[in-house]
Amino acid sequence: MTFSQDDTRRFIEAVAGTLIDHAEELSDLDSAIGDGDHGNNMRRGMTSVLEILDGLVAKPLPTAVKDAGMQLVMKVGGASGPLYGTLFMTLGKELPEDASRDDVARAFRAAIDAVKARGKSDFGQKTMLDVLGPVADALEAGKTPSEISAVAAEARARTRDMLALKGRASFLGERSLGHVDPGARSSELIVKALSECAGEE
Ligand code: ADP
Ligand code: MG
Repeated sequence: MTFSQDDTRRFIEAVAGTLIDHAEELSDLDSAIGDGDHGNNMRRGMTSVLEILDGLVAKPLPTAVKDAGMQLVMKVGGASGPLYGTLFMTLGKELPEDASRDDVARAFRAAIDAVKARGKSDFGQKTMLDVLGPVADALEAGKTPSEISAVAAEARARTRDMLALKGRASFLGERSLGHVDPGARSSELIVKALSECAGEE
């Protein structure tokens, strides 16, 4: 599949829109086990991506994704800015312009590996990776966009019963149990937005 400028605009607007719309919910989740800024961090990052949207849309999709990632690294503080920035920068670098489904799955896997390296983190530690990993598995297994959305929701829900081993939530130890990880929820929102866009193709 090749992507038109309209596709690039739709993808970016969908991801930014859902994160901005859910900023309060994301910050509430972060208030329970962190410092309460996750929604604000994501909103600031996405607003800054929308500010450069016309420039991004003029580029091929992989370059637009990479540049959006760089914007997040530059504009968002906290753990999530550099981590989501790394995810999108690597995804953009690894995606060919004419991408097959397998290419998308491979690029997404590489992007997750880059997040792990940057965060010195792994699956099972109650982070965004606990949604991104199952989504990568689902992509590799050839699941449909709506199945992938469902996988992301189930994976987000499972973080409630996980012990936080990375990031600020890990300072709480056992008290991190019983709360959904904010980064897992933002990852779910991103995956749902992209799945809905892909489902309309
Ligand atoms: P901060 O923790 O600096 O306040 P945010 O609140 O924006 O940053 O983001 C917190 C989210 O980042 C967590 O919910 C978790 O999903 C994710 N996160 C934190 N540290 C790591 C890490 N080392 N690896 C992967 N994800 C992480
Ligand atoms: Mg925080």
